[in-house]
Amino acid sequence: MTPVLHVPAFEDNYIWLIRGAPGQVAIVDPGDAGPVLDFLARERLTPAAILCTHHHGDHVGGVQDLLRRHAIPVYGPARERIPGLTHPLAEGDRVRLPELALEFAVLDVPGHTHGHIAYYGAGMLFCGDTLFSAGCGRLFEGTAEEMYRSLTKLAALPPDTLVYCAHEYTAANLRFAIAVEPDNAEIRAYQREISERRARGEPSLPSTIGRERRINPFLRAAEASVRRAAERHGGRRLAENVNVFAELRRWKDDFRG
Ligand SMILES: [Zn+2]
Repeated sequence: MTPVLHVPAFEDNYIWLIRGAPGQVAIVDPGDAGPVLDFLARERLTPAAILCTHHHGDHVGGVQDLLRRHAIPVYGPARERIPGLTHPLAEGDRVRLPELALEFAVLDVPGHTHGHIAYYGAGMLFCGDTLFSAGCGRLFEGTAEEMYRSLTKLAALPPDTLVYCAHEYTAANLRFAIAVEPDNAEIRAYQREISERRARGEPSLPSTIGRERRINPFLRAAEASVRRAAERHGGRRLAENVNVFAELRRWKDDFRG
């Protein structure tokens, strides 16, 4: 299995470092250069590439400072303004990183932002602010339809795919998931597991696609129990799964659990 290291940044961001042999890493969404440079020096690692999922500052804010120290390629969405971008990407493109013996497929996952992309390869998914464990990103630039289509695309990946989200939101997301599905025993078991892991100071991530399909309300709009909860909250019948998704997203936006 490819080792993936995490560098915490800001309040709750994770900057993922995908490790290849020998001592080389690809840096995913470096919102801040300081903690990454410290980590690279301490662990004697050399960066080989930067992979960006979308243009938000807490994902790209450290790119220029990293480039001042390391002349490395920057991969990112073609449809967004990414500092230092050398390899503009869209769905169908592949990222080949021979230094890391890794290759990723690029998926378009609009919704959180217009041009948001995800990287999928070697059994791993780096999905930025699109899919979180037990949650999903806010709709800052896209529509509910776009986000629902993007999440459906990610949910169709193999169940054992490791999901590396960009934020530690899992515990708060699980409180919402329980409000939606109070009778889902797996959500409660997962909540206990996560609170133990967090108490030990460990990240809750990675998750897996299979687990998310069982516990993440935003991937479960087709479930009768989730639809009923969304209809109760919205006070009206919801015709399509995407309407259920949109109601869940509105509900979560105001949820204080
Ligand atoms: Zn974002």
